[in-house]
Amino acid sequence: MPPDTLHRLMGLYAEEAERCIRCGFCNSVCPTTLTSIGFKPSKTSRGRLVLLQSALQSGWPDPLSKNFKELIDLCIGCTRCVDVCPAGIPIPTVMSAYRAAYIGKRGVGSLDRPERVIANFEGFVRGLSRMNGWLRHLILTKPTLYLFKRLAGFADDALLPLPEGGVLDEVFRREALKSGLRVYAFFADTYARYVRPSIAVSARYLLNQAGIDLFLPPQRDSGILYWELGMWEKVKELARLNVESLHREAVKGRRIVCTSPASTMMLREVYPRILDEEKSREVAESVVDINELIHDFVHLGRISADLSRERCVTHSTCLSQHLRLTSLIADTLETLNVNVDKVLLDCCGSGGLWGMLEKNRALSREIGERLVRKLGTSGLVVSYSETCALQISSLTGRRVEAKLPHEALYSWILQPKARTPPANISPAS
Ligand code: SF4
Ligand code: SF4
Repeated sequence: MPPDTLHRLMGLYAEEAERCIRCGFCNSVCPTTLTSIGFKPSKTSRGRLVLLQSALQSGWPDPLSKNFKELIDLCIGCTRCVDVCPAGIPIPTVMSAYRAAYIGKRGVGSLDRPERVIANFEGFVRGLSRMNGWLRHLILTKPTLYLFKRLAGFADDALLPLPEGGVLDEVFRREALKSGLRVYAFFADTYARYVRPSIAVSARYLLNQAGIDLFLPPQRDSGILYWELGMWEKVKELARLNVESLHREAVKGRRIVCTSPASTMMLREVYPRILDEEKSREVAESVVDINELIHDFVHLGRISADLSRERCVTHSTCLSQHLRLTSLIADTLETLNVNVDKVLLDCCGSGGLWGMLEKNRALSREIGERLVRKLGTSGLVVSYSETCALQISSLTGRRVEAKLPHEALYSWILQPKARTPPANISPAS
């Protein structure tokens, strides 16, 4: 691809790549660089920027080559580098912009099979979640899952985000808003809507304790997987629909609650960046992450409990570090007297669905091994990321149980006396 074409397709982000001063600070925190492949300069974070600069200046190496794309795809979008880059380059966004340019030139059909499967993830889990329990179980047997993983390019040992059953919209429709509680809007995203509605049910019950109820406005997938793949046109389409709906809630003065770090990041950072219009910025200002809310409510005494009999390790996920949530989560737990044995900062190697793919699995396991070693014989890990929780369970052979922070609090504070959850929705225990 001629350099000016790459420039045009990457837009502003070509200039961002060109600002790299090649200091290598990003290498020092990059999970895929800090592995056995990192001795090769082209397989490091700094190396990717140097390659992009070269392609932007001279057209060499060819940015449309498979080899070039594979090197860029070693960036798993963890965002750890963003805070250490002295040039202030939004490195994962630059990588995503390159992928968008690649797709812009070669089309979505040029993605390999596992990536195309990921691009259809929302439809897949939505369909499965709506099936009768017996039919879903019939489809999700070990042999069919094994076949699916082989055909779709997922690793045999990866725990996939498969629907537990039920659709959140129906659960929320069945259960009216509680009178006397303040209403916040809930952006559930695909994972809580179709994969694990129990995440949302436990969030709602916990927030009820603080006088808040959750309302589910019309919404679509946040687009995080499309963002990672570089399918920017699809991200923009979803962003416009979500912003239009959520803005109607924001102008009513309602906060918009997210229970996933990926959703918080998409609404706060990605939508305003790619839509670049006022409504998306107003929506971003109304967003509150569930961990921020709970932290405030614990300090205001609106959620209280003595959890001195509880014990856990806290895993500080990449996105919770990026969103500055780790200290809030640890402080919430300690304020409620939970014994937090340690806070582990290591990446688990999941990178969303990236680490579940067979082609990335060995590297993903290598990244996650450091964390697994430090987890030792821990019983419960509090980890704020749905896919990190799955990765921890799979890498430890399910020896270690991983829960989202609000799920752990729900089970400690409320589960013994919680009402029976709605049919076929059982908050994870
Ligand atoms: S976003 Fe993560 S994987 Fe990508 S370059 Fe930065 S540190 Fe490395
Ligand atoms: S930290 Fe920033 S300036 Fe330094 S090599 Fe990485 S991208 Fe370039």
